[in-house]
Amino acid sequence: MFKGEIVVKKADFPVKSAAGLKKRARRVVEILRRTYPDAWCTLNFKTSLQLLISTILSAQCTDERVNALTPGLFAKYRSAADWAKAPLSQVEEDIRPAGFFRNKAKNIVSCCQDMLARFGGEVPDRMEDLVTLAGVGRKTANVLLATVWHHPAVIVDTHVQRVSQRLGLATEKNADKIELELQALLPKEDWTFYSHSIIFHGRRICTAKKPDCPGCPLNRICPSASIFGTISSKGRKK
Ligand code: SF4
Repeated sequence: MFKGEIVVKKADFPVKSAAGLKKRARRVVEILRRTYPDAWCTLNFKTSLQLLISTILSAQCTDERVNALTPGLFAKYRSAADWAKAPLSQVEEDIRPAGFFRNKAKNIVSCCQDMLARFGGEVPDRMEDLVTLAGVGRKTANVLLATVWHHPAVIVDTHVQRVSQRLGLATEKNADKIELELQALLPKEDWTFYSHSIIFHGRRICTAKKPDCPGCPLNRICPSASIFGTISSKGRKK
């Protein structure tokens, strides 16, 4: 949370029924499908290993910066074995532009060593295996499951967490619990699209510091629109 952010609490948007909340969630998805029809993962990758490495690198870093870095990295490190046997100090130097490079390098090397030891050097395709790898939490695992293997998955990153709370679709603070809340509200076939499109929306309109409620296509059904900016009947800021 940043300084000055307005925290929207459960009581700020009472919902009359679970059915009403599901209806709002469906309406949100309809509007998102019209607004961001092509919403998808913006990290560049060709293999599951590349997406795994990119996702680890993208923590606290923009996808653009990661995409600028990875062509050189993926030419140098072509397999899990290449990462696993590389000196840690060299990996740190190579990924330095992504920030938090010491921690990320340690996770990448350990993760690849784990994959070599337990999964034949391949990225496993099951949640229960993915989350046993160093640096891989449910968010990273869901990115892989949804994007590489097209399994329905709710990806709860900082944007999905913040925007879902503002929309009244999530009330929990913990990302794992928000994932469960959203799974319960949304049809399975919408899980992945909802995640990618809300990430788009959180980057472009419903930003952390200055959400553009008057210009937001969701403003008529969003319980936070009146908190961040008064919306007139024409959807313009008063
Ligand atoms: S109306 Fe405002 S708070 Fe609600 S989703 Fe849009 S930008 Fe975010």
